[in-house]
Amino acid sequence: MKWTKTFIYTLKEDPSDAEIPSHKLLMRGGYIRKLSSGIFTYGHLALRVIRKIENIIRCELDSNSCTEVLMPMVQPKELWDETGRWDASHDILQKLKDRNNREHCLGGTHEEVITDYIRRDLKSYRNMPVNLYQIQTKYRNEIRPRFGLMRGREFIMKDAYSFDVDKDAALKSYEIMKTCYSNIFTKLGLNFRGVKADSGEIGGDLSQEFHVLASSGEDALLVSEDGKFAANVEICPAIDMEPVDMSLVAEEAKEEFPTPGLRTIAELSKSTGVAESSLVKTMFFLIEGAKDYPIAILLRGSDEVNPIKLKNYFKLSAAPRLLSDSEVQELTGASPGSCGPVGLNIPIYLDTGVSVLKNYIVGANKDDFHLKNINHGRDFKPEAVIDLRLAKEGDKNPDGEGALASCRGIEVGHIFYLGTKYSESMKAKYLDSNGRQQNIEMGCYGIGVTRTLQAAIEQNHDENGIIWPVSMAPFHVHICHLDPKDEKVNAVAENIYQSLTEKSIEVLMDDRKERPGFKFKDADLLGMPLRITTGKRGIENNEIEVKVRRTGKVYKLTIDKVVDFVYDWLNKEAN
Ligand code: ATP
Ligand code: MG
Repeated sequence: MKWTKTFIYTLKEDPSDAEIPSHKLLMRGGYIRKLSSGIFTYGHLALRVIRKIENIIRCELDSNSCTEVLMPMVQPKELWDETGRWDASHDILQKLKDRNNREHCLGGTHEEVITDYIRRDLKSYRNMPVNLYQIQTKYRNEIRPRFGLMRGREFIMKDAYSFDVDKDAALKSYEIMKTCYSNIFTKLGLNFRGVKADSGEIGGDLSQEFHVLASSGEDALLVSEDGKFAANVEICPAIDMEPVDMSLVAEEAKEEFPTPGLRTIAELSKSTGVAESSLVKTMFFLIEGAKDYPIAILLRGSDEVNPIKLKNYFKLSAAPRLLSDSEVQELTGASPGSCGPVGLNIPIYLDTGVSVLKNYIVGANKDDFHLKNINHGRDFKPEAVIDLRLAKEGDKNPDGEGALASCRGIEVGHIFYLGTKYSESMKAKYLDSNGRQQNIEMGCYGIGVTRTLQAAIEQNHDENGIIWPVSMAPFHVHICHLDPKDEKVNAVAENIYQSLTEKSIEVLMDDRKERPGFKFKDADLLGMPLRITTGKRGIENNEIEVKVRRTGKVYKLTIDKVVDFVYDWLNKEAN
């Protein structure tokens, strides 16, 4: 493709609303243009990358007996009512009405539509397993669209859905998809990790995320030293490396003491000389259900609550709400900095970290006072001891030896075993080999195509621009054609361009009337794996420069060697 015959542009300045490198580079390289918050036009270069990612996904899925379909983007409310998700997903679904006032939504995910699609005709055990997928634009009313394509409102996703006769078969389908995902992200040339994850509002009890590792990633991950265990911090069990053993410590007499103006754990620790990890803080949440009720949870002062663990323990659809200061005041008679469990008549839950402590300090439920030598069992009765805190670096590996290390990731894929959550509520049943009706077992599997595109840049760039892995580069080769007006140079450049193209090598030729420095800068910014320079001086000396974008290594080749060199280099790189 010739630059002057198409529409490719670059920007000199970083856009003011881009915070992370990949977003800046996508904007500066003219890959994407923002239309509205979280909504982008994909320019030709970005579209080429999207197609490459899609094709790698297609090849892998097709060779594993998955079948591509395409479902509607607009979905009727009635389907979502069947699963109860119309109301439950109110903040993320973009709802709209048609001319007859019938309610619909834009597809943010397709469990309901696919289950409706198969329930009419997938009637026998003989028809399974089936795995259907689509690659399609999704719309989610994200609260905070940001970082460009990372968290868009409109984005491209590959979503797949498996249908099986029983749990064993469904778990086999799940394992196949897990392997497919590893193959896909390996073929894309990305440094990624599969991690244990929360199932979120989608349901089911087994799920795994795939993360591209990058320091700007939104998700905190914890990984064991031997690499065998990896989890999103959202669900990672929190286990102390060296648990305190206070079993032999005697319980001492409870005592109230004044703590004027001390509101935070840090202030209390400084004033009492007791480490934050030996202080106990009390937090209050509202558990919403048939009848709402408040609870108190107790954590060590140095720990933080993990709202996802709370959500899962209480089987809620979203993390419970923290009570406001005035609600806490009403419940305990004190402001949040002076609250504690003694004398409360609401359910109290102990984090495992607190359960081993003795003689600890808590708020006295009286402003500016605390209690010391408090012991659960004796001074208050906890409802249960549960793992409620956020795991952190240095905690024990839950699956083996050693400590956990932390890193950050960008979630590019997520697979779920769903069980019969959707088939049950939507009555998707089949007849088993004994002629009995059974619910179909399901799984669902997503890859964020446009997020993957940007995550690849986040992992592959330098201060000058993008460095595309060969597998997803919009073009393999970028020719900086320095003297398009010179007949001799033009002939050589054209010849290289044609010869490469004939070998199915994709070439972008910069044939603009611009200074060499300007063209080189743009080549670095756009990030094709190889750059070829065709200029007057070089061609007179029968010498062509081929530069590798990633390493900066320059090869000086005679004109007749260029095409073979590029062909071989790309082949080697791709394998
Ligand atoms: P997140 O936790 O990032 O909000 P999610 O868990 O809601 O994502 P899934 O329902 O698992 O997302 O969607 C499958 C994949 O789609 C995700 O792994 C991610 O790669 C991609 N994705 C989800 N939301 C967005 C978004 N707003 N913009 C771009 N890609 C997205
Ligand atoms: Mg997810």
